[in-house]
Amino acid sequence: MKYDCLILGGGLSGLYAAFRLQQRSLHFAVLEARERLGGRIFGFTPRGSATRFDLGPTWLWPEFQAMIADLTRELGVELFTQQTTGAALYEDPNLPSAQRIDGESPNAHSWRVAGGTSALIDALASRLPTKEIRTGRRVNELHLHPNGIEVQSASPDGQMETFFAEQVISTLPPRLLAESVRLDPPLPAAQLRQFNATPTWMAAHAKFLVFYATPFWRMAGLSGEVFSRRGPLTEIYDASPPESGPYALFGFFGLPATARRQLGHGELAARSLAQLQRLFGKAALAPTDWEIKDWSEDPLTATAADSIAPAGHPAYELPDTLRTAWDGRLVFAGSETAIGQGGYLEGALEAAATACGLIAQ
Ligand SMILES: Cc1cc2nc3c(=O)[nH]c(=O)nc-3n(C[C@H](O)[C@H](O)[C@H](O)COP(=O)(O)OP(=O)(O)OC[C@H]3O[C@@H](n4cnc5c(N)ncnc54)[C@H](O)[C@@H]3O)c2cc1C
Repeated sequence: MKYDCLILGGGLSGLYAAFRLQQRSLHFAVLEARERLGGRIFGFTPRGSATRFDLGPTWLWPEFQAMIADLTRELGVELFTQQTTGAALYEDPNLPSAQRIDGESPNAHSWRVAGGTSALIDALASRLPTKEIRTGRRVNELHLHPNGIEVQSASPDGQMETFFAEQVISTLPPRLLAESVRLDPPLPAAQLRQFNATPTWMAAHAKFLVFYATPFWRMAGLSGEVFSRRGPLTEIYDASPPESGPYALFGFFGLPATARRQLGHGELAARSLAQLQRLFGKAALAPTDWEIKDWSEDPLTATAADSIAPAGHPAYELPDTLRTAWDGRLVFAGSETAIGQGGYLEGALEAAATACGLIAQ
């Protein structure tokens, strides 16, 4: 069967591209390597709860992000603001105890998706034809033919399947595409250089989620927000649902990927709980559950080069000349190719919309 367009990757960018192509009645399929959709959008369901908590992205900023604001409205996805009521804490290694910071938090204008960011993925997927959203299909090779592109894929148990399309949109992070998919003919050197030099946003990082029966930090007049130069968690936030439990905190590790790997998840959790005890008291030592997601260890997000975090937020902005290959048959999307807000959820939408504009009717 020949498709008008094959979309590689079923993260936000890939599913949004599918949503847009469906509105144009094009014949498409999404090929996703993981057994689940969402890519870096990934929720964890703790013991005794049916709610998903974000191990990937948490925040969006609808005031500055028109596309995600429109999409959440169109899909009927409910948003709520990040809990910031109460004082934040600042931990300095040279001071005996954490300092309280009163006043408005910089996160007071950050919004979250009710039911976790995965609810956005569910809402998008529910509007797409199930049989064309193919999970467990890892794309290994693309071959250019005179009349289209042949896509070779494998399932986790090694079953090969070949697809054919007029055009292909890749939403894989550029660096991951360059490293893990064989392109025949290969990409021009300038494009390959650019892709290899493009860090995948947040791929170097790891998140710690911890669950409690009560929000004891709020009871002490604290927001749950912490900025720490002591660690192991350098930033901590309240991750609870808007109205009830399970109450949760999440934190980002300050340790680099190599150090995290040496310690292992058990030791990282023990050190994180000790830090939470130092900050919030003994109640922090009685979690009902915890989870760590280290994105640098996930080969469907990170490459070896992504173990080192970029110094700041990279200026992504893929030049138009590098946005396609093979005379426009192969089009690159994914958040890291966006012109504005690359790396963010908004960038994933923007890049998908730009790519869809390059797909023939
Ligand atoms: C810990 C963390 C926190 C973050 N916080 C925020 C935040 O608060 N706000 C924000 O805006 N952004 C945040 N981000 C960034 C945000 O997650 C991304 O911008 C967005 O999810 C990217 O979507 P995407 O579809 O472009 O890429 P991805 O989600 O990476 O999707 C790519 C897809 O391709 C699939 N794939 C990979 N290889 C293959 C293959 N060979 N064949 C087929 N499929 C393949 C992957 O499985 C994946 O599903 C965060 C990211 C992380 C990891």
